[in-house]
Amino acid sequence: MTISKKQCAPTISKCVSDLAPSGIRKFFDLVATMEGAISLGVGEPDYATPWHIREAAIYSIEKGYTMYTSNSGMPELREEIARYLSDRYRVNYEPAGEILITVGVSEALDLAMRSILNPGDAVIMADPCYVSYPACVCLAGGQPIRVPTRVENGFELRAEDIEPFITDNTRAILLGYPANPTGAMMSRSNLIKIAELALRHNLMVVSDEIYARLVYGVDEVCFSALPGLKENTLLLGGFSKAYAMTGWRLGYAAGNCSVISALTKVHQYTMLCAPIMAQKAAIEALKFGEPDIQEMLSDYNRRRLLMVKGFNKIGLACFEPKGAFYTFPSIKKTGLTSEEFAEKLLKEEKVVVVPGTAFGQCGEGHIRCCYATAMSEIEEALSRIKRFLDKHS
Ligand code: PLP
Repeated sequence: MTISKKQCAPTISKCVSDLAPSGIRKFFDLVATMEGAISLGVGEPDYATPWHIREAAIYSIEKGYTMYTSNSGMPELREEIARYLSDRYRVNYEPAGEILITVGVSEALDLAMRSILNPGDAVIMADPCYVSYPACVCLAGGQPIRVPTRVENGFELRAEDIEPFITDNTRAILLGYPANPTGAMMSRSNLIKIAELALRHNLMVVSDEIYARLVYGVDEVCFSALPGLKENTLLLGGFSKAYAMTGWRLGYAAGNCSVISALTKVHQYTMLCAPIMAQKAAIEALKFGEPDIQEMLSDYNRRRLLMVKGFNKIGLACFEPKGAFYTFPSIKKTGLTSEEFAEKLLKEEKVVVVPGTAFGQCGEGHIRCCYATAMSEIEEALSRIKRFLDKHS
């Protein structure tokens, strides 16, 4: 029997084939083959996980902790998370029922969208925003609604900008502050207005707080700790950024019992549980990792100031980001699109940055640069970018 080409072709769902590949990964693949390249592209700490956290995981393996845990995650870890959220933000979650341990915030985000959306439900988010937000909404059958944010407002998603986008189909607002890619923060007064909006329209707020600990000179805000908001909010938190634990793949979701029980249902059939060694490491991180966060944070702050000052000095207007570890300078004066700028810069000067459009159309005219890299690398990258600008102006 002969099989035609058409019969051999794999069937890919329309939803997946319509999805554009991540605009971040493309640049990582290019840089992997390029000697002498400097990457400001990857959004992850340049530190290894603090040694005592690694050691806790090694010890757990030596002791034979190599099995599944409860679907919800180890009780001790859920208790530590509840203690942490209560001590730090004065918001109380019940470890049994209101907290689910996930494989990174990535899984929590996917579970959240699959659990709360019916086909066609709309989810409001900022433009630009983290690449996974619209993708997870689409994969769950929902509709991402992007609300433009602007540099003039510090890329804040303001309540008054959101309101005109709310329709009968709107199910949730997805917030991610401090923000990837802009480093923007939310003012407390704006968050309170968004909270009122959510309550008025009976919308759920999914708050991705993965960068919550990486803020510079402003207050950390936990959305569910705002008055009256705990019931409506699904808080997503993780270990990747603050504890330099990207490779461990650990995060959590905290919210009201019925939502967490829905997420747990999807999680138990698809992931079963997060890796036990990573959970052991996370317990150590929450118990004893505070000095590590403080040390990395003050380093990030020095690098942040160097990069912001450096960009403004070479003529690329860069607003001061108050959180995460990204700057989002404007490249409009070059007349190049973000994509052209990033591609030419990589080819001519071997510096990797991510075009702002990888995060949405409102990212046009900007590039995302991560400063979680050595000061010397930042200085060298800035001098290469200056040379590039001299050539193209
Ligand atoms: N949320 C945001 C805003 C991110 O920037 C990232 C990673 O870059 C994630 C979630 C994914 O986090 P995790 O490593 O916990 O899956």
